[in-house]
Amino acid sequence: MAKTSGSDETGQTLARRIADLIVHAATNSPRSLQKRIGPSEVGDPCDRRLAYKLLDWPTARADGDPIASVIGTGFHTWMEETFTARQGDLPDGRPRYKVEERVTVRPHQLAALVVAGSSDLYDRATGTVWDWKLVGHTTLDEYRRKGPGPQYRAQAHLYGLGQENAGEQPQRVAICFVARYHELRVHVWTEPYDRQVALDALARLDSIRARLESPEAAATDYSHTWWDQIPASEQAKCRFCPWLKPGSTDLTVGCPGVQSAGRPARHGFESLIA
Ligand code: SF4
Repeated sequence: MAKTSGSDETGQTLARRIADLIVHAATNSPRSLQKRIGPSEVGDPCDRRLAYKLLDWPTARADGDPIASVIGTGFHTWMEETFTARQGDLPDGRPRYKVEERVTVRPHQLAALVVAGSSDLYDRATGTVWDWKLVGHTTLDEYRRKGPGPQYRAQAHLYGLGQENAGEQPQRVAICFVARYHELRVHVWTEPYDRQVALDALARLDSIRARLESPEAAATDYSHTWWDQIPASEQAKCRFCPWLKPGSTDLTVGCPGVQSAGRPARHGFESLIA
C-alpha cells in the first residue's frame, strides 16, 4: 500500500519496515479501533455510512493510508501541549482552559447509546468550544468558501452540549482549520452555540438506528435490497469511507459511493484526524 524506496536493497527493506510500523501503529490506535459512534461522526451526511457503522458492518477494504491521520494526531498533541503550557487561572480560581477533556454528549444507561468524546479545547474565559482540523490547503479553501459542512458543524455543537453537560456555559463554537502547507494558513469558522443543532443531530442518529433495529430490517437479513433503501448523500465524503468499494453492485459487501465532480473517490483516513 505505502510507496517505499531505498538507496539500496537494505534501504528498501528498512523503508518497508518503517511503513509497516506506521500502518500497524495507526490502525491499532484507540481512535482507529473505536466502535461506538463519536461526536465527530454523528453529523455525517451519509445515512448509509452511519448505518454501516452502527451495525459494525465489515468494512470493504483493508487499512487505508494513515499518514494524514498520523500527522493530524501529532498536531492535536502539539496544540494540547501548547495550551496546557499557557494555562492560567480565572478570577474564580478555575483553570481557564479545559484541554482534551472527555465530555459526555449524551449519557445513557445503554452503553451503545452513549455519545462521548474528547473535546479539543474549551476556553472558560470566552465560553468557546474549539476544535482543530488539520487539512490540505485546497480543502481549507473549500471550507473557507463553503463553510464547515453539516458534519463538522454538528460536531462543534455536540461538543458544546458535552461541555454544557459538564457544567459549563458555552457561548460559541469555533472550528480552526490549519493547512498542511509550506506556510501557515489558518481559517476559523465560528457561530453562537446552539444546543438544538446538537439535539437534531442526535435525533437523526436515533432515527437511523431505529430503522436498523426494525423487524423489516431483520426480516431481510440486511440484504442488498434493504441496504439500497438506506440513502447515501450527495455530500458524502466517500473517499474517506471504509465501506467504499468502487463499482460495487452488492451493498452487503461495499458501497460504490457517490462520485461528485472534482472529488474522485480514493482511499484515505483524513476523517480520523477530526
Ligand atoms: S461510500 Fe459514500 S455513499 Fe457509500 S456509505 Fe460510504 S460515504 Fe456513504
